[in-house]
Amino acid sequence: MTGLIVAKFGGTSVADYDAMSRCASIVASNPETKIVVVSASSGVTNYLVRLAKGNLPTNERDAILAHIADIEFSILKKMGHKPEMAQALEHLLNELSACARDAELASSLALQDELLSFGERMSSLLFSEILREQGTHAINFDVRQVIKTDASHSKATPDIALIKHQAETLLMPELAHSVIVTQGFIGASDNGKTTTLGRGGSDYSAALLAESVKAEALQIWTDVNGIYTTDPRLTAKARPINEISFDEAAEMATFGAKILHPATLVPAMRASVRVFVGSSRQPEAGGTWVAWKTEHKPAYRAIALRKEQVLLTLKSPDMLHATGFLADVFTILARHKISVDLITTSEISVALTLDEPTNGNSRKITETLLDELKAVGEVTVEENLSLIAVIGNHLQATRGVGGNVLSALEKYNLRMICHGASAHNLCFLVQSEDAPGIVEHLHSCLFD
Ligand code: ADP
Ligand code: ASP
Ligand code: MG
Repeated sequence: MTGLIVAKFGGTSVADYDAMSRCASIVASNPETKIVVVSASSGVTNYLVRLAKGNLPTNERDAILAHIADIEFSILKKMGHKPEMAQALEHLLNELSACARDAELASSLALQDELLSFGERMSSLLFSEILREQGTHAINFDVRQVIKTDASHSKATPDIALIKHQAETLLMPELAHSVIVTQGFIGASDNGKTTTLGRGGSDYSAALLAESVKAEALQIWTDVNGIYTTDPRLTAKARPINEISFDEAAEMATFGAKILHPATLVPAMRASVRVFVGSSRQPEAGGTWVAWKTEHKPAYRAIALRKEQVLLTLKSPDMLHATGFLADVFTILARHKISVDLITTSEISVALTLDEPTNGNSRKITETLLDELKAVGEVTVEENLSLIAVIGNHLQATRGVGGNVLSALEKYNLRMICHGASAHNLCFLVQSEDAPGIVEHLHSCLFD
């Protein structure tokens, strides 16, 4: 199928009735938009994450359930008299409530994922009705039929071949007569259990669907009009970028630009699906196109900030002139499914960074991991760090890049400077409390 568009709307875009109505108009304004992927309404997943811990006092748990019901019902109320919708919503809220009370919740990652799925299941139900109100023939489709994953709850890995097969057999036939509204973030494992793709995963879901139906374009509708030179929340001087290459945008996503989930561009690149990022509040304001080729290739394109980094240092005299030391370390990390971002080595030590988000529902640095690493060498763990990445083109081969960045930041203590591994980034680690100021200052030096 050609010309098909997949449109994804994030949490703030589907936060309430008015926001959903604006998004429905965006969908209706382009007949090529056949698949709509929605996030949970703003704030709902954060509430669900708190419930998923399973250890809340009863009154707190009930208060959270009431807040969630409030968010959902206030959308429904604006739709007028809709008894069938009210019943369907009530049913989901009852299921959610039972899940939140399950005695096994705290110890079961599968139940936690089931609980986390309700945000997207409710928003897609409501969004499909708003589209129908506006005269579009829309159906609410359970994405768990298509997004098949392994059983790694909370950070499941999609099975690309199976997703393609399911999309061809179950999703494509529906596109002939309806607009499909479906859920981001969630999937299902082989045994039918609900899984999730990690926080912010709806972008990734939308990209996986776009790939599997060979879409012409993927639209990511959010609360800013495009990808900016840095997070506009960090500096008022950040400005939108009209076009950016897949390679640069993928580096940005990996290195913390929250605008895109880190894995979003992988399926888009595999299937050459162009990606548009724009604001659902101001669709007419334009946005950013991400594609293979761009007209300009500036040395400096953007600065990304990734918070909540942990620095692990392993020191062992055995490393001196030895072979296999790093292989041992990485085997342990791989067994714990930990992906390493930056790495530097000296004669007898290796330092590496990993991501440890506090809002995730499982910690990566566990006692078992530390015990295994301690068998290889002396381990130090430092927290409260952030990773800053300068993104651009030919950075490894452009004269003066290192000098520009380092001299701009001479007042600060930079750690783990990594330059040269990629043409598209130069990154380093800083203390978290310094990070926003560093980004702002570096942005002025490189972009003003
Ligand atoms: P959604 O709920 O639509 O997925 P997110 O909150 O996940 O939205 O992502 C949008 C936010 O990403 C913006 O509000 C902005 O603060 C942040 N952001 C971080 N880096 C950038 C960047 N380089 N350009 C634009 N926005 C960015
Ligand atoms: N609702 C999920 C989250 O808040 C997924 C997403 O919005 O992309 O993380
Ligand atoms: Mg997001």
